[in-house]
This record gives sequence, structure tokens and C-alpha cells, in this order.
Amino acid sequence: MSLQPETFKTLIKVAAEQVIASAPELTSLDQAIGDGDHGTNMKRGFEAVLNKLDAISEQPLHEALKSIGKTLVMTVGGASGPLYGSFFLAAGEALSHSKHLPDDLAEVFGSGVNAVSARGRSQAGEKTMLDVLIPVMETLKADAGRSDLIERVRSTAAEAVERTAPMLATKGRASFLGSRSVGHVDPGARSSCVLVQAVCASLEGRQ
Ligand code: ADP
Ligand code: MG
Repeated sequence: MSLQPETFKTLIKVAAEQVIASAPELTSLDQAIGDGDHGTNMKRGFEAVLNKLDAISEQPLHEALKSIGKTLVMTVGGASGPLYGSFFLAAGEALSHSKHLPDDLAEVFGSGVNAVSARGRSQAGEKTMLDVLIPVMETLKADAGRSDLIERVRSTAAEAVERTAPMLATKGRASFLGSRSVGHVDPGARSSCVLVQAVCASLEGRQ
């Protein structure tokens, strides 16, 4: 998987469009256990990314990831803006320090995950986006080099989202609900899944 500028541009476009298309679903998930703004937050952020797509995709990959991160920090808002922003900023930072794709994909992704965890003071099992991002990172590590890696990442993300439903939220707005957060899928976990699956679909040439 060598990431040519045109491939990267398509990949970002597909991912942004998928997030924007999933805004109603993200909003309805956030209405159940949050304040109902996750869809509009994410839509606003990824529309801003789309607006800058030409400039972003002309940059070296590590700079492009950082630009996406900065754009998301400035536009998404809520708890998720700084968290997704941190993910892309840290992944870009990792790529600028002697990390290369595709060999170091798991490490680069892992740097993003660690940044979310540090900023959110959160970890696996707290019913957040990390409950998708961490399993995806683990699959990237465990299955690196397998010919069906993309398919495994897709199914890992899908299964991980569903596993957030029985979890008790202990971080973010959903934690205010206590046990009433149980039984609902976490909105940020779902948006992470949408992003991961869009990237997978784009890499598989499905879009
Ligand atoms: P807000 O909660 O401020 O309204 P959003 O609705 O945009 O922001 O985002 C909510 C999502 O952010 C949650 O569903 C969860 O996945 C994620 N989130 C919230 N707090 C944290 C945290 N401390 N660590 C990781 N993810 C978090
Ligand atoms: Mg919200």
C-alpha cells in the first residue's frame, strides 16, 4: 500500500463524505446518551476538511495529517474535536519521525490512539471512541502483513462498535447518565468506525 497523493486525496474525500452522510445517525446516537450534537460537530469538521482538500492533499503526508488535525480542532468542537484533532496531529507527528507507511502503520495509528487516551484521560472499556480505535490498533499490529488485513480491520471496527452498547460510560457526557448509558452504542465509537471503514473501502477500491 503505497499512498500516492491522488490516492490520499480520494481517501480523505471518501472518509469525509461518509462522516457527513452519517451525521443523522451520529446525532441520534448522541441524543440517546449525550446532547445530540455529535453529528453536526463531525459534519462541520469534515466539511471544513473537504473545503481545504486541494491544499491538504498537496502537502507531504505527515503535514497533511497535521493539517487535518488542526482543522478538526478548530471546527468540530465538543469533546470529540480536540480528541480527533489530537489523533491526526499525533499520527502526523509520528510519521515525521522516521516512521514510514505501510510498514509502520500500526505504530503511526497507535501514536494517534495514545494521544486520544492522553488528552481524554481515558482508556479501553469506558464507552468512548477508544473502544473502536484500540481494537483497530490491535488488529493492525496482530495482522500486519496478512493479505486480508483490510477486511479484518473492517470487521474489528464493526464488532467493536456493538460492544460499546453494554458498557457503562465513565468518560464524557454519557457518564452523567450513570447506568442509563448502558444499552446504547457510543456515538464517538460509531464515528470512529465510519472513518476506519471509509478508509478501508477506499483502499479496497470500493468507492
Ligand atoms: P460532547 O460530548 O462535548 O457533546 P461530541 O458529542 O461531539 O462532544 O462527542 C462525544 C463523543 O466523544 C463520545 O461519544 C465519546 O466517544 C467521545 N469522548 C468524550 N469524552 C471522551 C474521553 N474523555 N476520551 C475519549 N473519548 C471521549
Ligand atoms: Mg455531544
